[in-house]
Amino acid sequence: GEAAAAVDDAHRGPAGVLEIPQRFLMGPGPANAHPRILAAQSLPLLGHMHPPFLAIMDEIRQGLRYLFQTSSNYTLLASGTGHAGMEMALANLVEPGDTVLVGVNGIWGARAADMAERLGGKVVTVEVPAGRSISLQQLTEAVEKHSPALLFLTQGESSTGVLQSLAGVGELCRARGALLLVDTVAALGGVPFLADAWGVDAVYTGSQKCLSAPPGAAPLMLGPRAVARLRGRTTKVVSYNWDLNLVGNYWGWDEPAPRTYHHTGMVSMWYAVREALALVAEEGLPAMWARHAAAHAQLWEGLRALGLEPFVEDPKDRLTTVNTIKVPEGVDWSALSRHAMERYSVEISGGLGPTAGKVWRVGLMGYNARPANVELVLAAFRSGLALQGYRPA
Ligand code: PMP
Repeated sequence: GEAAAAVDDAHRGPAGVLEIPQRFLMGPGPANAHPRILAAQSLPLLGHMHPPFLAIMDEIRQGLRYLFQTSSNYTLLASGTGHAGMEMALANLVEPGDTVLVGVNGIWGARAADMAERLGGKVVTVEVPAGRSISLQQLTEAVEKHSPALLFLTQGESSTGVLQSLAGVGELCRARGALLLVDTVAALGGVPFLADAWGVDAVYTGSQKCLSAPPGAAPLMLGPRAVARLRGRTTKVVSYNWDLNLVGNYWGWDEPAPRTYHHTGMVSMWYAVREALALVAEEGLPAMWARHAAAHAQLWEGLRALGLEPFVEDPKDRLTTVNTIKVPEGVDWSALSRHAMERYSVEISGGLGPTAGKVWRVGLMGYNARPANVELVLAAFRSGLALQGYRPA
């Protein structure tokens, strides 16, 4: 009737079936999803409180224990991307007035510092230049000086291509009463990580990198010391959405107490993560780590033959999952990236934050950490450099 006649057609939305080009996502993420994972997302929906769906959530919690290498019961998925995991971890573990020590060697530490400050934390930093990792010596000095409630580190600094060693950091934090929170968004599944053995109290990652799933879920784990901190808070977690006292209950953290509705579980997204974790369990972590290391070695053999060099000076600091490659004098990095996309449908990213304009970033993550993908990246570099007349010195 009247309402139908009043419908404004000027802003009618898109119509027709969605079509998407096939691209090789060889930047710092998202990586291409595994076909089995995409297939899982097209399965029928279940209700978010239906017993078969709760059973899938239990499978995910179990798969996360393996992925993080922890015996902690407190694993779940934050509903959102890596930032959701980051903000959830900080919002639950930081109370106003807490001293939060943040390791900064790229944009992720800087962002964690921003978040911790918004949460009322007293933020102090331990900083090193982009391209370096923070030494245990520097961390020890900073922890002793500031006695923080929490130390934040990024295992895989995707803006600089740096791997942060965690050796000795868990012991350091335990001895000083600090919690250790680690961002493994760009690293987990691609490089070794042992939450319990290394004394990591809290960790989060993302679904769209080495787990080969689409973006949209952030696996998170709290160890016993972090759970004690959460339960002992004297202030409410500021965000209802991220409050692990509530979200954790939905995930079964309080069992045998009944699970209650907090938000609508991301049904299809969680199917995807269930399938991703099955792929991790089938391949096994040591084999996954070895596959990523092999792809990294293959990439650098090829890049060096083209005269290209790593941005990260110290070989032990090089992240295998996100590789930063110096842009040589006289080469236009963006023209090369454009050519890679136009000619090969390959994504090769530029730098970010402190590395903007200085490097390319090549991701070797999950489903993409395979010999054929590496060859394609090398072909794109070879032809892109030749087009610009670049000859190695
Ligand atoms: N931390 C690190 C180390 C990352 O690489 C990223 C994503 N590039 C994030 C956090 C944030 O993840 P997201 O973009 O999925 O929110």
